[in-house]
Amino acid sequence: SAHEDDYDYLYKVVLVGDATVGKTHLLSRYIKGSLPKNPTATIGVEFATRTVPLAVGGTVKAQIWDTAGQERYRAITSAHYRRAVGALLVYDITREGTFKSCAKWMEELRQSAEPDIVIMLVGNKVDLVEKDPSLRQVYYDAAQEFAKLHGLIFAEASAVTAHNVKYAFEHLLQEIYEQT
Ligand code: GDP
Ligand code: MG
Repeated sequence: SAHEDDYDYLYKVVLVGDATVGKTHLLSRYIKGSLPKNPTATIGVEFATRTVPLAVGGTVKAQIWDTAGQERYRAITSAHYRRAVGALLVYDITREGTFKSCAKWMEELRQSAEPDIVIMLVGNKVDLVEKDPSLRQVYYDAAQEFAKLHGLIFAEASAVTAHNVKYAFEHLLQEIYEQT
């Protein structure tokens, strides 16, 4: 349907991951099709929504929550996580520390969101590595292994080139549908 308010399922999805991994850029790329105009800010609201069709028919309205930079201080409030059924857990493939943090973010998600939350692990900034392979600090296979071990779905993406951005969000929505 062309009407934004017609949907069959409403899913709350949260963005998590260390500061500056590209969460706000990924969300802006997905929702607006462009990069944020004020790159230091959040998308401007607590959450953004997009209604997407499911492969099996029917539509999902995704309510996607960005952080306002509180991840810098590890001070994300419980309201961010409350009743979230999906998460994009983002790291930067050029900074190993942001990948190491994923275990901690995953624990926080499983404690503060719905216990069976579906998590899409996203290795962002793949464009940087395409230009200069020596910038890569997190190997694809290592991340895939981590994802497999913890039951996450996984993709590498780039908010700058839009590579895999739509896939990351919509594959997550599809998985939530299939698992609930
Ligand atoms: P957040 O703190 O996780 O929300 O990260 P932001 O979305 O604010 O992005 C932090 C910085 O990373 C900004 O300088 C962006 O321009 C940059 N950035 C975000 N996504 C990408 C990407 O896919 N590729 C590149 N090269 N830079 C990115
Ligand atoms: Mg941000």
